Amino acid sequence: MGPIAEIVVGGLLGAIVGSFLNVVIHRLPRGESLSHPRSRCPGCEAPIASYDNVPILSWLLLRGRCRRCGERISPRYPAVELLTATSFAAVVAARGFDERLALELPFVAILIAIAGIDLEHRIVPNRIVVPAAVWALAAAAFVASDELPELALAGAAAFLLLLIAALAYPAGMGMGDVKLAGMMGLYLGVSVAPALLIAFAVGALVGVGIMIREGAAGRKMGVPFAPFLALGGLLGVLAGPELVDLYADRFLS
Ligand SMILES: [Zn+2]
Repeated sequence: MGPIAEIVVGGLLGAIVGSFLNVVIHRLPRGESLSHPRSRCPGCEAPIASYDNVPILSWLLLRGRCRRCGERISPRYPAVELLTATSFAAVVAARGFDERLALELPFVAILIAIAGIDLEHRIVPNRIVVPAAVWALAAAAFVASDELPELALAGAAAFLLLLIAALAYPAGMGMGDVKLAGMMGLYLGVSVAPALLIAFAVGALVGVGIMIREGAAGRKMGVPFAPFLALGGLLGVLAGPELVDLYADRFLS
């Protein structure tokens, strides 16, 4: 396969995975089964036919409505599919089509699911973070065994750093964010440093923006932090090693 074909394969895989992430984001926090029943229309409860469940395309063709009853289907569904497709394609383009995708693509999918769930429910589920951490170590043992010490150290360091931040500023983040940061270290290694820096910088900017717009009310809104960690994690996968090299060249040589 040429590089363009590999990127297209990554994008198509991402669209399909994104469709499953919609199910995870909707059902996992509600304690529902991920495998059955089939997806149903929230209005008429009719099962959605497979030809109406094609990622992104079906929503566009049906103009965001159920074929049977015309109930509006949230644009969140195609948005998650498009985001996952774009992210997977970008990971393949930036990092290449090799066995390390066994770490990179599941990591990106997990970040999108966690961001979606935290935005809606204000929780970072252990039921995702713990298996994700186990997968990081298991997959790394096969495809990146020489990196295992670095990954373990980065996981521990990120966990401790966020633990200190959460203890110092309990209103800003919870233990879910602390565990998420630790899990991110297990996937990113030293790239978790730029990832956390990006998360804090963008999170602080958005927090200040909300306070300026909403005044005192904004201060009490409590912005969920996991989506910022997820953004940092995604950029850490795409450009982490380059950002670390840039820093090392400038300041450590
Ligand atoms: Zn319907």
